[in-house]
Amino acid sequence: MEKHFLIPISRRDLLKLFGLTAAGAVVGSNQVAAAQTPNITFNDAQIPTLLRADVCVVGGGCAGIAAAVTAARNGLKVVLIEQGIVLGGSQTQGLVYPAMPTNIHDSDTPYITDLNKRFYMHGISVDFDSDPKYKNGGDARQYAPELLAFIYDEMCADYKVEVLYNATLIGANTQNGKISAAVIHTIEGLSKIEAKIFVDATGDATLSRFAGVKVERGSEHTGRNQKMSFRFEMGGVEEMKVYKFFVKKLKDSWCESKPPAFEFAKTTHTENFYFAGIERGEVTKDDVAYIQAFVINGKPGTLSMNCPEMSPYIYSSTSALDRSKAIQQGRIMIRRLANFFKKNIPGFKNSYISREASMLGIRESWRIHGKYYMTADDYFDARKFPDAICRSAYPIDIHDETLNLGKKLAKGEFYEIPYRSLITNEFSNLIVAGRCISANFSAQASVRIQPTCMSMGEAAGIAAAYGLKNNIAVNALDWDIIPESQRSYVSRG
Ligand SMILES: Cc1cc2nc3c(=O)[nH]c(=O)nc-3n(C[C@H](O)[C@H](O)[C@H](O)COP(=O)(O)OP(=O)(O)OC[C@H]3O[C@@H](n4cnc5c(N)ncnc54)[C@H](O)[C@@H]3O)c2cc1C
Repeated sequence: MEKHFLIPISRRDLLKLFGLTAAGAVVGSNQVAAAQTPNITFNDAQIPTLLRADVCVVGGGCAGIAAAVTAARNGLKVVLIEQGIVLGGSQTQGLVYPAMPTNIHDSDTPYITDLNKRFYMHGISVDFDSDPKYKNGGDARQYAPELLAFIYDEMCADYKVEVLYNATLIGANTQNGKISAAVIHTIEGLSKIEAKIFVDATGDATLSRFAGVKVERGSEHTGRNQKMSFRFEMGGVEEMKVYKFFVKKLKDSWCESKPPAFEFAKTTHTENFYFAGIERGEVTKDDVAYIQAFVINGKPGTLSMNCPEMSPYIYSSTSALDRSKAIQQGRIMIRRLANFFKKNIPGFKNSYISREASMLGIRESWRIHGKYYMTADDYFDARKFPDAICRSAYPIDIHDETLNLGKKLAKGEFYEIPYRSLITNEFSNLIVAGRCISANFSAQASVRIQPTCMSMGEAAGIAAAYGLKNNIAVNALDWDIIPESQRSYVSRG
């Protein structure tokens, strides 16, 4: 029986604890090996077990839900731990909308098709003005966050996933190369969830880090993380007037699609409009560095604002303090942007901030270094793998102007994601799904989109079920030995 759990403490804090200077302790590269993160060990800590399950999924974002629902559909008892009170993670708490297309036809795995059917049942057209050539390619996932949250609850109830809201993972019990329990904080205090298999779908590789898996963060060249965003929604907008302003008055060819499928952005055609706002002192250069707005299916008169972005030179997504400061700064930026739109864009005259995200938009923070480490070459060489769990042609999309590679795969080409990038050398019963899988900074910038994260979660659920039923450790499992009929994806290589 294990007797301890681990809470990581930063190297700087540990040095402080011993009265040493932190100078020189800053890790120069983005490599954060487990050994470099000292842990406080609470020997003999008596922590009650709140729940026992076959699978414990930590993190209720799009990847975690897919993992939990798929494992439950395969007959397993599943607990899903979420620190917030809504499922969807970035999609719902972060107001990240819509799901981007994988840009390759027929890439949807069965879970995504099921989710689309639920959208349809709830009145959301799946092929909402989508380009037919990308139909069934991860496109047209147009959802209002409130509806999506409801659908996720409904799915979890249908498949009997035990969802534990307001439960924050704070540590991990490990024993003999296995995670034996997730230590969580809830309204009842500290407790643990014991499970045979754990899925880390926290986006920040939190369970993996707490357990001691080797992780990385940011760019291997600059150490910077991708930009964070603080998204918001504006209600009371007259979309047709906004459309006419951009397309007819500013002659912007980028946002030609008419409402209801309308979006606008800062482009070469419209940048002078924003520059004039800077000159008048209404907004700052940072406020308008990146501007994008979408209509929301099911919320007429409301726009989803994919901005503002906070500079990665100032704020890092792997610093707790920076995240807090970015929230404060972002809230100021939101206010300035809303006033600017209201004053200068016809159609925004009666608008107002109708919703602010309740979670920062984190594109990238920590990533595990697992059995297979994806790189940009996998993308550019359009690599295929026998153990592929899904495919994509979404570009390498780095929100950091000096790093954007700007290259895309040729039309019709795609790369695949191997199951091995979801598993670790360190723990035999851990699967990682979502934006923190084993990929370098550039590769992560492509795999991080929602349909791909969902397919990863789905594969995690299938692998957990197959591994348990056949007594194979999930980090020793070859995805390609699972019968094709039970796999969500079979390599096209
Ligand atoms: C600003 C922005 C714009 C984007 N635009 C698009 C877009 O237009 N289309 C697209 O497809 N993708 C987009 N993306 C990418 C995509 O939305 C995300 O990469 C994807 O949603 C990540 O899903 P996930 O499940 O891996 O992680 P997350 O969505 O981050 O979910 C992680 C979940 O884990 C929970 N959690 C974390 N730590 C703990 C803990 N310790 N205890 C308990 N729970 C915990 C969180 O509360 C959260 O619910 C964008 C991302 C950002 C930030």
